[in-house]
Amino acid sequence: MKQIPMLDLNAEYAHMKTDIDAALQRCLSHQKWILGPEVGELEQKIAAYLGSAHCIGCSSGTEALVLSLRALAIRRTGKEYFTRDDEILTTPFTFTATGDAILRAGATPVFVDIDPRTYNLDAAKVREYLRTGTKVVGIMPVHLYGQSCDMDAVLDLARERNLFVVEDVAQAFGGMWRGRKLGSLGTLGAFSFFPSKNLGCFGDGGMVSTGDPVLADLVRMLLKHGGKDKYNVDHIGYNARLDTLQAAVLLAKLKHIDDFNDRRRKIAAAYTAALKDLKGITVPAEPYAHAHHVYHQYTIAVENRDGLQARLGKEGVASMVYYPFPLHRMKVFGEGRSRNAGSLAVAEKAAGRVLSLPIEPLQAGEQTEFVIARVSDHIRKRDHS
Ligand SMILES: *Cc1c(COP(=O)(O)O)cnc(C)c1O
Repeated sequence: MKQIPMLDLNAEYAHMKTDIDAALQRCLSHQKWILGPEVGELEQKIAAYLGSAHCIGCSSGTEALVLSLRALAIRRTGKEYFTRDDEILTTPFTFTATGDAILRAGATPVFVDIDPRTYNLDAAKVREYLRTGTKVVGIMPVHLYGQSCDMDAVLDLARERNLFVVEDVAQAFGGMWRGRKLGSLGTLGAFSFFPSKNLGCFGDGGMVSTGDPVLADLVRMLLKHGGKDKYNVDHIGYNARLDTLQAAVLLAKLKHIDDFNDRRRKIAAAYTAALKDLKGITVPAEPYAHAHHVYHQYTIAVENRDGLQARLGKEGVASMVYYPFPLHRMKVFGEGRSRNAGSLAVAEKAAGRVLSLPIEPLQAGEQTEFVIARVSDHIRKRDHS
C-alpha cells in the first residue's frame, strides 16, 4: 500500500545532504558548541531575509515567545514580569505555547475569536474588545498554517492604543504581508525551527526578530541567564541559547526555503483546484490579495472530520488535526488564568472540523493526486460518516 506521510524528513535530508553534511563537519572541526560562529551567521542571514534590524537565535519557538514578552515587560513596566492585570489578546485556535508564553510572562491571555476564512484572530473582534477593555497591553497574532493575520488592522489598533504586537511566526517562515516578511511587522516576531515547521532544524530551535535595539539587547541577556556578564546578572533569565549545530543545519536549509515554500504553494493550488467545488468540504481561503501564504499546513474543514481521517489512514494517507482543543478549553488556562472576549464559537467549530493533509514540499505529483483522489472519493460518497 502507498504510504503518504505528512512530511518526509528523510527525503528533505537527501535533497540537501551535501550542504548539511559539510555544515556539520565544520562544527566538528571547530568544536565551538555554545554560540559558535554559525549562530551569529544565521542571525545575520535571517535578519537580512526578513528585513529586520535584529535577530536573536534561541532554544525553541516557545522560548522565543517567552523571551519576547519578558523583554517587553522589563522595557515597558520596569519590572521583571507583567502582572495578572495586564491583558494580552490572542487567538484560542493555536498551539498551546502561544497562550502558555503569556502565562509564563505573568500576564493574562484574553482569547478573541477567529475569522472563519483564515482561522486567524478576527481583527473586528479585537477592536470590539478594545472598546471596553482598558487593561490590554499587547496583541499576539498567530499566522496560522502559514497565512498572515490581517496585519493592517492589528497594527492600526496597536498604534491607536500604544499596544505592543508580538507575532507568532512559528508556522509562517517566509510568509508576507504587503511584501514585508512576517515577523518584521510587529514589535517582535517569534519563530520556531521545530523539525516539522516549514523551516526546521534537527531538534529544537527558535529565533526572535525585532527592529528595537533595546528589546534585542534584553532578549540577548535573558537567554543567557539574564545578564551581559554571566557571572554578574541583572534579570531573571533562562538558559535558552540556540545550539551551534542547529544553526549550522539551518544555514544549509535556509538556502532552500523560498523553493520549498513555492513547492508548498503549488501542492496547495493542486489540492484547492481539485477539491474546491465538492460539496461538504471547505478548502483554505486566501482572502487577502496582499498576503503571501506559505502553506505550512494545507487544512480543509469537513463535517465528519474524524471519520474522514480514519478512512484516509486505512488507505495510507496521513492527516493531522491542528488543533483539536481550543486553548480556552484546556485546564492550564482555567482557574481564572485566562479570559474569553465574548463567544469563541468560530474557534470551537473549527476545532471539530479541521484536517490538515500531507504537504511535503518534495512529495511527487502522483502522491498529491492520490491524496486528492482519496479525499474526493470519500467526500463525494459522503462515506466518511
Ligand atoms: C510550534 C509552535 C510554537 C512553539 O514552537 P516550539 O519550537 O515547538 O517551542 C508556538 N506557536 C505555534 C503557533 C506553533 O505552531
